[in-house]
Formats: sequence, C-alpha cells, structure tokens
Amino acid sequence: MEATPDCIFCQIVAGAAPSFPVCEDEQTLTFLDLFPVSPGHTLVITRDHYENLFEAPSAALEAVAATSKRVAGAIRKELAPDGLGIFQLNGAAAGQTVFHYHLHLLPRRMGDPMTLHSRVRGNAEALEAMAARLRAALATEPA
Ligand code: 5GP
Ligand code: ZN
Repeated sequence: MEATPDCIFCQIVAGAAPSFPVCEDEQTLTFLDLFPVSPGHTLVITRDHYENLFEAPSAALEAVAATSKRVAGAIRKELAPDGLGIFQLNGAAAGQTVFHYHLHLLPRRMGDPMTLHSRVRGNAEALEAMAARLRAALATEPA
C-alpha cells in the first residue's frame, strides 16, 4: 500500500509530522494519542496505509496485535491501571476519525467514563515524559 500524503499517520511514519514515539518495528509504529482520553493512551498502527480492518491483510493485523501485547504489558507494568481497553473503529459511522488502521490501548481507572475520544490536546511535556516511561518499560518486556 502506498503512503497517502494527506494521512496524518502516514506523515508520522514518514517522519514528516511529530509524534511521541513508544516503539517501532518493520510492520508497526506505536506512539501516544495526541488527544489522550487517559494518561498512557497509546496507538499502535500499521506502517503501511490501510484504511481499516477490511483493507488490512491478516499479516499486518497480526503484527499490530503482537506489538499491542508487548505495549500493553509495558503499560500495565509502568502505570498499573485498573483495566486496559483495546478498541478499533471502522468507518465514520463507527466513530473512526483517522482512516489509517490502528488500535487504541486505553488504560482505565475504575469508574472512568467509557469515553473513546478527547478533544483536549495533551500537554507536550507530559506526553514526552509518558512516552519515555513506556519506552523504558518496554526495554524489559519479552519479545
Ligand atoms: P479513531 O477515531 O480513528 O479510532 O482514532 C484516531 C485517534 O487519533 C484519535 O484518538 C485522535 O485523538 C488521534 N489523533 C488525531 N490526530 C493525531 C495526531 O496528529 N497525532 C497523534 N498522535 N494522534 C492523533
Ligand atoms: Zn496513512
């Protein structure tokens, strides 16, 4: 799949837009959501551009799932949330707003509202500090 120039996630993959990176490998990229619903709200995306679950080949979905397991482990170790939501939206009617395949990893505290999106941009220093914590936690996470 070709990179799509006006896709914000393709721009992040290309290094043309800034992000708060957590990890990357051949097939996936992981960075913090710029509008976090909770501290540690993380996105795992395919490196290649696929609009949604229906477009992405199984190998790419599996790569994202494997990365998500490692990152979820790091979130649990570092942030000790009460729970961790993983969600993925397909199509505007489902609430998808960025049309490049991704999973949300959403640490949750007991009683948090079941919100999937925030309109409040995260503080840059707090996001960088969080990304650094997760990168360090990942360093000791099994492959
Ligand atoms: P969706 O609604 O498509 O499942 O989720 C897209 C997510 O991307 C939203 O949670 C939104 O906050 C996040 N987002 C939108 N623009 C950017 C951006 O430029 N950088 C990052 N890191 N996240 C973004
Ligand atoms: Zn894209």
